[in-house]
Amino acid sequence: MKTTVNGSRLTAHELKVYIRTFGCQMNTRDSEIVIGMLEEHGYKHTDDPKEADIVIFNTCSVREHAEQRALSALGYLLRRGAKHKKRIFGVMGCVAQHKQEKIFKSLPKLDFICGSSDIYNIPLILSQIINEGKVNVVSVSKKDRGKRSIKNINPSYREKEKEALVNIMYGCNNFCSYCIVPYVRGEEVSRPVKDIVEEITDLVSKDITHITLLGQNVNSYNGKDGKEDIDLIGLLKQLNKIEGIKKISFMTSHPKDAKPSLFKAMRDLNKVDKHLHLAMQSGSDKILKLMNRGYTSAKFIKLVEDFREIVHDGKISTDIIVGFPTETEEDFNQTKEVVEKLRFDNAYIFKYSPRPPAKSSEMADDVLIDVKKRRHSELLELQREISREKKGKKFN
Ligand code: SF4
Repeated sequence: MKTTVNGSRLTAHELKVYIRTFGCQMNTRDSEIVIGMLEEHGYKHTDDPKEADIVIFNTCSVREHAEQRALSALGYLLRRGAKHKKRIFGVMGCVAQHKQEKIFKSLPKLDFICGSSDIYNIPLILSQIINEGKVNVVSVSKKDRGKRSIKNINPSYREKEKEALVNIMYGCNNFCSYCIVPYVRGEEVSRPVKDIVEEITDLVSKDITHITLLGQNVNSYNGKDGKEDIDLIGLLKQLNKIEGIKKISFMTSHPKDAKPSLFKAMRDLNKVDKHLHLAMQSGSDKILKLMNRGYTSAKFIKLVEDFREIVHDGKISTDIIVGFPTETEEDFNQTKEVVEKLRFDNAYIFKYSPRPPAKSSEMADDVLIDVKKRRHSELLELQREISREKKGKKFN
């Protein structure tokens, strides 16, 4: 169909799409799905925003900094786009889901916003803008907190040649008090085993050998295989049998649901990656309780010890937040002590920022920014030292 974009008559297959992705692997996979769908509709993908006719920002609202970075980068492009070339601009992902129509207030020239639960609508949205001249299009499911459809739409576009991300579940039921994900990604829904196996078998036929299974909390995977309920261990067992796969990774694991039986499966299934990412968040029981994490520091330490005892050559990484409301020097020192004791292979350390409507945003953000910064760099330095020592030992 002929259409008008940039003042000239064009067809979809003459239009180039650029997607910039912020945040987690779940977003990376969503961007792949959208690029794949649009390619199937005749659009071309480009990695160069300058030559793009359609620019989409796939946003993340888990951290305030990432959200602001995305919106200000988009604001800059919109101002330049208006000067040089009329393009279509859209926002997808968590920020779109969370802020909905409010984004148009700060970015009135935006053409569309599309929530994380509605990404399958993007070809339709573009067609409405291009063919019907619609402006400020909004597609954000408000029902069920944006619960994601498990429709088996898996277009073939993948960013990497040998590795692929595969969603096994969407959403999260945990409501950790600092986290916005359950509000923007909706409640947990697991994909059926058959769909996952079919997708991976197809990937293997395209020479993909490393699969990463994705979910906000893969430990609570509960998919159907016919009438039977299958958990993560059952799924890993089935996937381990697929010929052609060399490595199966998974992320992210929640400590309250991770169990020694999973570690045994990691030890015994030859294709399963021996790397566990287990987010600790804090070493203080008081803070863990306020975070609604569902475990104590002692339980977390025991889990890591179990993992190391069962998976001898295993690696373990973690996430930590510093400066959560009411975090005292003593709470912070408890976190440092656990880091010193457990000696993670890697740790991602973040400064707390309130993310309404997450529960902790109702608490006073009472740790001064300078204190957050100091705790952040102290912990970062400690972890760097541990990582250096561990790497040094490996090479000696
Ligand atoms: S487990 Fe907690 S931190 Fe992770 S996505 Fe769910 S609510 Fe957020």
